[in-house]
Amino acid sequence: MQFSADSRIPMRALLAGARQKQGDLLKLIRELVLAESPSDDKASVDSCMAIAAAQARKLGGSVKLHRQRQRADILEVRFGRRPKAGAPGPAMLLGHLDTVWPLGTLKTMPCRENGGRVWGPGTLDMKAGVAMAFTALALLNEANLLRREVVLLLNGDEEIGSAHSRPVIEQVAKECAAVYVLEPAQGLACKTARKGVAGWRIEVRGIAAHAGVDFEKGASAIRELARVIEKVSNFTNLKRGLTVSVGVASGGTKSNVIPAEAWAEVDVRIPRMADGPRLARKFAALKPADPRCKLIVTGAINRPPMERSRGTVRLYRKARSLAAELGFVLNEASTGGGSDGNFTAALGIPTLDGLGAVGEGAHARHESVVIEHLAPRTALLAGMLIG
Ligand SMILES: [Zn+2]
Repeated sequence: MQFSADSRIPMRALLAGARQKQGDLLKLIRELVLAESPSDDKASVDSCMAIAAAQARKLGGSVKLHRQRQRADILEVRFGRRPKAGAPGPAMLLGHLDTVWPLGTLKTMPCRENGGRVWGPGTLDMKAGVAMAFTALALLNEANLLRREVVLLLNGDEEIGSAHSRPVIEQVAKECAAVYVLEPAQGLACKTARKGVAGWRIEVRGIAAHAGVDFEKGASAIRELARVIEKVSNFTNLKRGLTVSVGVASGGTKSNVIPAEAWAEVDVRIPRMADGPRLARKFAALKPADPRCKLIVTGAINRPPMERSRGTVRLYRKARSLAAELGFVLNEASTGGGSDGNFTAALGIPTLDGLGAVGEGAHARHESVVIEHLAPRTALLAGMLIG
């Protein structure tokens, strides 16, 4: 690659380089996708992680594995020079290698290239994004443009809430000046805000009785649960972007028995940090309408919201102007879905999400990545990592 001496961030040259490397990039995506990696299968995700670790070593990164007993080990790789004291911290590339797909999915959903796309389980969410990150680092390495330290962190429990990897993500992120999340783009846009995700469980204990013989002695847990469901559903405030949805409910034993037990699981999405405690108080204050019934309410915020902070907007503006140099318009979007970017943003670290692949069908049978967007987005990622 040739650069003029005065070009600070040579986007066009990066794009040319990314196009040259597209064959290798596709090969790496394929290699990662063929290593099936459902979150709950440690050995499988660890094998996929080993492919990433080998790639990182090939690029001269210093590799550290955070060993986990139940879930996949977490891969931390550092590239470039450590920042001098007082200089801004490293840039973080954050991704995951687990997928929602069980082992054997490849038999019915093979990894293949067709119609300008790469198809297969985990292509879009997010093995292509991880491969793009390695390619961006390779580009910077070869052009001697890796002026700041870059930390790549890959976990293997994102699709099940990142309970095990969260402390490692937060600990590494705290020393970083910016976080770039390799989750797929939203359409063509990157993500500057994500809702927080919370889950509540409501259990009702009533009194069982024969529905015909002892009707008055019974206290129906299902009827009580129905009232509670109506009440919590009304916590939804669409104008605020706050949603409460009862996704699962069950109860009772036989149709002629007044049910003593019923339960529901509630999905809650919050756009602002302050919504969390407010909602928690509302759930805690739930009371049964029938005093003979008892409510047991448990729940918590799993992922805090990623608010559209000033730091995040600054990163977005930089990305938008680099994209313009590459000849495409980069819009921003917000989403109700959570990612590990929620954790880093909640720590106050500028976080830009959705910098991975463009495609369709995350978590769906038609999961695929559009090939023509791979090189420009890889060049964009590389540009964001320069100085
Ligand atoms: Zn993902």
